[in-house]
Amino acid sequence: MSELHFDVVGAEGPKRYFEALSPGRLAHAYLFTGPPGVGKKTFARRLAQSLLCLAPKSSVVGYDGTCSSCALFRGESAHHPDFLEHEGVLRIGDRDGAMGFYESEGLSARDLVRQLSLQSYSGGLRVLLLGDVSFATHEAANALLKFLEEPPRGVIMMLTTAAPARLLATIRSRAIEVHFPLLSNADVRAVLERMQFSNDEAQLGASLGGGSVTRSLAALEGEEESLRAQVVRWFFESVEGKSPQENWATRETLDDGLETVKTLVRDWVVANVSPRAEPKGIALISLDQAERLRKLKPIEARDAVTLLTKLDEAQRLARTNVNPGMVGDYVRMALTSTP
Ligand SMILES: [Zn+2]
Repeated sequence: MSELHFDVVGAEGPKRYFEALSPGRLAHAYLFTGPPGVGKKTFARRLAQSLLCLAPKSSVVGYDGTCSSCALFRGESAHHPDFLEHEGVLRIGDRDGAMGFYESEGLSARDLVRQLSLQSYSGGLRVLLLGDVSFATHEAANALLKFLEEPPRGVIMMLTTAAPARLLATIRSRAIEVHFPLLSNADVRAVLERMQFSNDEAQLGASLGGGSVTRSLAALEGEEESLRAQVVRWFFESVEGKSPQENWATRETLDDGLETVKTLVRDWVVANVSPRAEPKGIALISLDQAERLRKLKPIEARDAVTLLTKLDEAQRLARTNVNPGMVGDYVRMALTSTP
């Protein structure tokens, strides 16, 4: 048996989950959730390659990298005829309600259903990846839902999203949800180094990215006033009782912003356990904020638990139709009133 690979940084939980799965026990649909830039799509592509690789294996994870199927996965974009990938908004196709024609905009929900109903090219599985999926119209979401209700044999669908709450509950309930947590700084560094950043740049990017490659890249490319920068400033002003003027929370930024606040609260606790050295094995995620975090008033474990509970509540509220500004205010009050 040839040696198998699965070249993915981080994602230990999802890796273990799929390693324990025998090919016969695969579900029709998986929903990969988690913050942006933690490798959900990369994982999905490697899993697709594993599923289509011709090498014999006992679990669904791993590919030999040498068979004729793997050859079609080389480089940035895959060209395997049984692997279909689409990113972003999915439209119904033909005509999207009153919004006009979208025939020219690549894959549509109708194309998708047509394509997936065809026989597999190689006689094995057909794998579909919908990255950062969202739907232009209710009709487009319904087309996918219909498909999920009666999936053709041999089709495996993987959807990725940072905002699962915005998908139809009926779509979520038909997919197995696998969560991807933030990466460690070392993992972000490893990814950046593979992307040909120098050691120094990779280290800087990792320290600014808060566990997300996307955010690290934005920071390295000097994007003015990233969401993270806004949230960091707002966090410190709130904790220091300075009542910030601006509110970063919008429908688009809420999930990502709350994730940043959570990381900062965690780091606030870690930074205050011992002012000089972090306890062994527990490292700050927001390394660029280390000095400022250490200067904050110490937070008691009990108060940290209360605060994190309120953040969970805010994340739950973010999945409802509550006004995003109100969720932001709720978190600000929780931060301000922490003794
Ligand atoms: Zn192979």
